Amino acid sequence: MTRDPKAEPPAPSLSGEDVDQLRQQLESELGKLLRSMEITDEAARPVELDQQAVGRLSRMDSLQNQHLTQNLKEREQVRVAALSRALQRMNEGTYGKCTGCGEGIQAGRLFVFPEAERCTACPE
Ligand SMILES: [Zn+2]
Repeated sequence: MTRDPKAEPPAPSLSGEDVDQLRQQLESELGKLLRSMEITDEAARPVELDQQAVGRLSRMDSLQNQHLTQNLKEREQVRVAALSRALQRMNEGTYGKCTGCGEGIQAGRLFVFPEAERCTACPE
């Protein structure tokens, strides 16, 4: 396989220290996300149960809010799954390897997106 000359050079493999730091990052993001999902769950309750809480909001507004909350909830669930998969790959020792081409994912990318499964050269 020939490398695109414009592509970034392959990252040096992650050091044990890098992995430890990324694991902490993943765990703390996962924890934050799970706490925020509990709050989203409260907000996603059926409108009828919330009559008092919504007060001046019209029913239309509450339905719209509920829709937005549902979208947020779906995005959170996707991210939770991605973070969990990353932690699982760490346990399996395959973390930091691109699932597209098998090369090491750029370390700089992992520190920004610790849940990244593909390198910048591979489409998501
Ligand atoms: Zn790749």
